[in-house]
Amino acid sequence: MHDAYPDYEYKRITDITIDDLHNMGAKAVAVDLDNTTVLDSTMHAPGGVKEWLNNVRQAGFPVIIISNTYAIRAWLLSKKFGKLPWISFAEKPHTAAFFKAAKMLNVDISELAMVGDRLFTDVMGANKAGAISIKVDPFEPEKLFAEKFRKERKKEREYMEKRRKERNAENRSFIRKPERRK
Ligand SMILES: [Mg+2]
Repeated sequence: MHDAYPDYEYKRITDITIDDLHNMGAKAVAVDLDNTTVLDSTMHAPGGVKEWLNNVRQAGFPVIIISNTYAIRAWLLSKKFGKLPWISFAEKPHTAAFFKAAKMLNVDISELAMVGDRLFTDVMGANKAGAISIKVDPFEPEKLFAEKFRKERKKEREYMEKRRKERNAENRSFIRKPERRK
């Protein structure tokens, strides 16, 4: 399995500062939808998200949506967020959407920061592509496909626990991009 350990972790997308993005070496930002910018399977963005997206864009970072959702929903949310470019049916963790996004925003893949809530789609895909991976906590447990997600979240917790232990172990030489970690 490809590395699903995030380069950075935050509680909320709105906790990521402009300085943080600069320090990561990011030149553009890709955002996930469900449980990263909107409540799962809804059109509702929690307080501050839209403002954050605007601030990031005003600071000179182009922003794109990369979502596994269907086209109409991605399009509607892109309009809600101020006409962000968007990629739907991204099939994360496949890497094609990440490379397409970097190309659309005219940045190198290593300069694209992907913000998402799922380790085995958002983070793994970003890592595989060579983008900067930023993991946020989901806003709330998924109600749609609740059982599938409950299992996935459990797997995520176990994976992070295992990797953190490995990280803390004496031999740290295998750690990927340690300079990016906080
Ligand atoms: Mg998500």
